[in-house]
Amino acid sequence: EATAGPSLRVDGVEVIHFGSNDYLGLAADPRVKAAVAAAVDQYGWGGGSSPLILGHTMVHQELERRLAAFEGTEAALVFPSGFAANAGTVSALVGTGDGVFTDRNNHASLLDGCRLSRADVRAYPHGDWRALEKLLDRRSSHRRRLIVTDSLFSMDGDLAPLTELADLADRYEAMLLIDEAHATGVFGSGGRGVAEHLGVARRIPVRVGTLSKAMGGVGGFVAGSQLLIDWLVNRARPYIYSTASPPAAAAAALAALEIVEQEPDRRTTLLGRAAELRERLVENGWDIGRSASQIIPIVVGDPDRAVEMASSLRRQGLFVPAIRPPTVPEGQACLRISLTVAHTPEMIQRLVAAIGHS
Ligand SMILES: *Cc1c(COP(=O)(O)O)cnc(C)c1O
Repeated sequence: EATAGPSLRVDGVEVIHFGSNDYLGLAADPRVKAAVAAAVDQYGWGGGSSPLILGHTMVHQELERRLAAFEGTEAALVFPSGFAANAGTVSALVGTGDGVFTDRNNHASLLDGCRLSRADVRAYPHGDWRALEKLLDRRSSHRRRLIVTDSLFSMDGDLAPLTELADLADRYEAMLLIDEAHATGVFGSGGRGVAEHLGVARRIPVRVGTLSKAMGGVGGFVAGSQLLIDWLVNRARPYIYSTASPPAAAAAALAALEIVEQEPDRRTTLLGRAAELRERLVENGWDIGRSASQIIPIVVGDPDRAVEMASSLRRQGLFVPAIRPPTVPEGQACLRISLTVAHTPEMIQRLVAAIGHS
């Protein structure tokens, strides 16, 4: 039985969970709920048809205008999900005879986009831009090249080396696509993501985000030039052949976007608490990899041990998912903590105490 916020009741017992991507607590924000209710009242529920037929309403148009303004780009396009945005965009940008270069730890939706594209797929070791450079150097026969990366990795909680990747994209005349799914609303002084945080947003022509994590709703989006967006409207099959997201989902995203812009305290508080939690865990002898965010893996290696730790926490009223191969590489089984601003310092304290020393 799910309730709003980081606690839920299972068989009548309260459990605090650390497994939600509702980082800013917006999924149950009264303003978001009110926006949804008003939109359902006005438009009904379902999207009705593809955006190219009738599904693209005034609310979608307003959301795309606001997302473009937020991202500082000419245009933006809303997809039914972040998965569709990634898979649709990658496969629309490259094809047979092109090269697509992908970080080994990228999200499944980027990888599926690479496969769907029929381009030559080259995976480089996680975060290793030097290895990427060698691949780019050797593969000069590609017609077009595209580098794709998560900006904040969903299992490792670390940041992509976006400055170096932008340099490589310049040097080797490649396009660069980043997926800010876990970073939109959380990173950067304006909440625009890791690219803003690292000061390279303007150098990244294709920026994907999701409305389903910190924005607390559902849907994905791409921000970039008008030329890019026009191309996607004509080429991105998940955009063309999927029913538009409900107008109420777009209305929810508009309300959430406004909160992201107006209430920067949410992200600074969250990132401050995440930094403290990482520090405590390291002090207690745990390996948290290269986490630099609200996603904090406790790497234990052995999958059985990860499951055992998760069960022990669960008995103490704390839910932290154990993540095992193939979701993470062999030997990298972990407990994955997903921190949100709705976790109070007391809840975090309880978690640290329950996890104890390594
Ligand atoms: C969750 C996620 C997506 C997909 O977003 P949805 O809106 O849930 O479909 C894409 N990329 C990354 C890195 C994600 O973590």
